[in-house]
Amino acid sequence: MTTRPSIVWFRDDLRLADHPALNAAAEHGAPIIAVYVLDEQSPGIRPLGGAARWWLHGSLTALAASLERLGVPLVLRRGAAGTVITELAASIDAGAVLWNRRYGAAERAVDTAVKTDLRAAGVLAHSFAGSLLFEPWTIMTGAGGSYSVFTPFWRACNAGPPPREPYPAPLALTGWSSAVDSEPLTSWALEPTKPDWAGGLRAAWTPGETAAHELLDAFLRDTLPRYATERDAPAEEATSRLSPHLRWGEISPYQVWHATQKVQRTATGGAAASGIRFLTELGWREFAWHVLFHTPDLATVNLRRDYDAFPWPPLDDRVLSAWQQGRTGFALVDAGMRELWRTGSMHNRVRMVTASFLIKNLLIDWRQGEQWFWDTLVDADSASNPFGWQWVAGSGADAAPYFRVFNPELQAKKFDPNQEYIRQNITEWGTDAYPAPIVDLGETRRAALAAYAAIKRPT
Ligand code: FAD
Repeated sequence: MTTRPSIVWFRDDLRLADHPALNAAAEHGAPIIAVYVLDEQSPGIRPLGGAARWWLHGSLTALAASLERLGVPLVLRRGAAGTVITELAASIDAGAVLWNRRYGAAERAVDTAVKTDLRAAGVLAHSFAGSLLFEPWTIMTGAGGSYSVFTPFWRACNAGPPPREPYPAPLALTGWSSAVDSEPLTSWALEPTKPDWAGGLRAAWTPGETAAHELLDAFLRDTLPRYATERDAPAEEATSRLSPHLRWGEISPYQVWHATQKVQRTATGGAAASGIRFLTELGWREFAWHVLFHTPDLATVNLRRDYDAFPWPPLDDRVLSAWQQGRTGFALVDAGMRELWRTGSMHNRVRMVTASFLIKNLLIDWRQGEQWFWDTLVDADSASNPFGWQWVAGSGADAAPYFRVFNPELQAKKFDPNQEYIRQNITEWGTDAYPAPIVDLGETRRAALAAYAAIKRPT
């Protein structure tokens, strides 16, 4: 009699260590087959942006190699995930399918349907918490609602038991040895070819679990003590750069949490404050997912519905494109937009400045900016990205007030006083080749405030 294999379904958790579903499969003891489904068909699943597709290629390559070392095949399939998984389970007579949970509405709909179908077919289907420290339905207000303000949310998270310890990486696994059809990764064309615009991304990043841990270790060892004081200065490289690794689940928040807590035990003074600050930023990631879970249309609908009446002027494509290309004539904005295009990332302070500039100086709907970031960020994530944009717009959860308009020139003076970041990203800075400002900051600020005032309900 053969043992029926267990399928571990990898999604936004492209790692071996602290992977609860893989861990459970290993404990179960049946031979394991791993699968990743590129799902561009299930209703409501947001198609990946270009930079995210590039990252996924590298991350799947790294995961396949790690699994292969343990004798476990990674099967790649494309299609509607529900159909692919149930058919695969039937075709190999799987005894179990295991996965770590996702929290977007469309993804949950797929997962719930798969669970029902598998169970109806007599297959064990089980899901685990692996991508968030505090699952969105476990943190609720006294009145039983969700949170819309960060501080009480994070206080509530920290009032309960601490996040569980991470699971170690499996040292040995039993792989399923029968051949199963898998699509070649290259056939998915995740990497750009003509033109190959990913040179800057390759120079800036190494996708995969090993690189994620190297970054975390180096950050905790060398950078964390100055995090609290320097995290807002884009030239200082004082942040962890873990966001794409967390986005793709190459490292889990449990691993980051506990590694930081370990350092915290011996940290004092400024270093201890830095650790708390860093963990709080992880808290913002949790909060973004909490908000998305409870308001699934975060990327398209104003959380505060009074913003629906905002009088956006007709879109001027030339102005949008000047912003996208980093040719607005405002150095910090342009430096950020060029950093984004070149590396697939942008420093958090500059994300806020560029977003504020688009919305409040160019009077362009935040959804245009959200979509551009979605396409160009390697960490583009369906919670943090719309959450960040709505925060800047003023329409979101615990958002910046509408009258807070970041002045890109003052922000540059404060956070890039030696223009180091600006010079790193704008080669023609200081020459005649650099564009003149496309708007007047004072005038556009006044126009934005007038437009915002018009939609504010009388109190
Ligand atoms: P660190 O400062 O080292 O923080 C550690 C981790 O905490 C990050 O890796 C990230 O996972 C989390 N984190 C930090 N700040 C935030 C935040 N404000 N909101 C949510 N999580 C946070 N982050 C994304 O991961 N994906 C996005 O698509 C994204 N889009 C954004 C769009 C806008 C308009 C804004 C203002 C912010 C956005 N952020 C997004 C949040 C933030 O800018 C990035 O997480 C951060 O810059 C990543 O750099 P880091 O890893 O060095 O952060």
